[in-house]
Amino acid sequence: LVVPNHPTIPFIEGDGVGKEIWHAAQTIFDKAVEKAYQGKRSVQWKEVLAGEKSFNANGSWLPQETMDAFKHYLIGIKGPLMTPVGGGIRSLNVALRQELDLYVCLRPVRWFKGVESPLKHPEKVSMTIFRENTEDIYAGIEWQQGTAEAEKFYHFLADQMKVTKVRFPNTSAFGVKPVSIEGSERLIRAAINYALQHKLPSVTLVHKGNIMKFTEGGFKQWGYELAEREFTDVVFTMNQYAKIQKAEGKAAAEQALQVAKSAGKLIIKDVICDAFLQNTLLKPEDYSVVATLNLNGDYVSDQLAAMVGGIGIAPGANINYLTGHAIFEATHGTAPDIAGQNQANPSSLLLSGVMMFEYLGWHEVGQLITNAMESLFQSGKATADLARFMQNGQSLSTTQFTQAVID
Ligand code: NAD
Repeated sequence: LVVPNHPTIPFIEGDGVGKEIWHAAQTIFDKAVEKAYQGKRSVQWKEVLAGEKSFNANGSWLPQETMDAFKHYLIGIKGPLMTPVGGGIRSLNVALRQELDLYVCLRPVRWFKGVESPLKHPEKVSMTIFRENTEDIYAGIEWQQGTAEAEKFYHFLADQMKVTKVRFPNTSAFGVKPVSIEGSERLIRAAINYALQHKLPSVTLVHKGNIMKFTEGGFKQWGYELAEREFTDVVFTMNQYAKIQKAEGKAAAEQALQVAKSAGKLIIKDVICDAFLQNTLLKPEDYSVVATLNLNGDYVSDQLAAMVGGIGIAPGANINYLTGHAIFEATHGTAPDIAGQNQANPSSLLLSGVMMFEYLGWHEVGQLITNAMESLFQSGKATADLARFMQNGQSLSTTQFTQAVID
């Protein structure tokens, strides 16, 4: 990515608490860039509209100009958007992801000292989730019960029902789960490249291939095949381990694994999703980079976020590594219950900004912001959503928190 010294970056403020957290985040971003580069670099922020603010201004929830700006400038950042209920409008977030084919949902999970966690050892959590963003049951191909389409599907499945002995009445609704080789491979390739670049020890493919053999099982199989084919010299897979074990016994497989580890090879392994969720509570240190399908990824990302302080602090990004397009975003919603009350926690958007600056290669900016947040949390200072769970926590308003980060 070639980044000019004064890039234009489009932003969507967002609905509900969006205005407050965006104002906080932009102020902090500008101060951090100024401190890091003293005017040699700066961001030209360009507001683009979406959501309620856009609808009120021009009658469109997601104007073409907004799409065009994200396409043109490659990188953007956004606050949460209210999904309008009814009127046939699908999630604006999904629309943006589909339009730009942002096939990776990237969610780093780390713990800040001082933030309350349900784990005994939250310091052991350091994971990066690569969630496939375009396929799976989330593709939105489903039919409501009682419609002609559902009826047609019901008859189409009659033979299948005889085979699987699954009985469902013709009042069923149906959904389709498309999982492709190409879609799985580009996601897993991105996860492996990320792990190699950041010198991380493993990539874990999380799936439910024991039950959904061709879709989720396919994801696992294609992942192993891709790793062994494209990254032959730099990875060791648990698929290779299993083959050695079968041919030469467990001791030989263990030895091959140890040799691979001491040679600094990236270990590619897999785990069934329900076991993964248990293990992340019991032995989170076993996981580093995680690659998974869309629906698993949704559950996994929020559970992991809860383990380190909740969605108020969890950052995210949607990325197409082939075109470079990336939108960084707060992972929580519009929090209508606290909107306009100067209480919202801007940390999720701030840390999404940190991811954005890292993506641009402006590492100094990300470091300044995370250092400031780290020292605040350690001294028990945070917005109310976090402070109320901290020992000796001191609740700050959004504006007080912003000023404290800057100070
Ligand atoms: P929500 O995330 O808005 O709120 C859930 C709870 O978390 C609330 O109690 C809220 O006060 C709290 N919370 C959320 N963000 C916070 C923050 N920054 N600081 C402090 N507390 C915070 O989820 P919801 O209520 O289910 O959804 C509200 C709206 O947001 C809906 O219209 C939904 O479609 C939308 N939404 C948008 C996104 C997005 O744009 N990425 C994501 C999720 C939900």
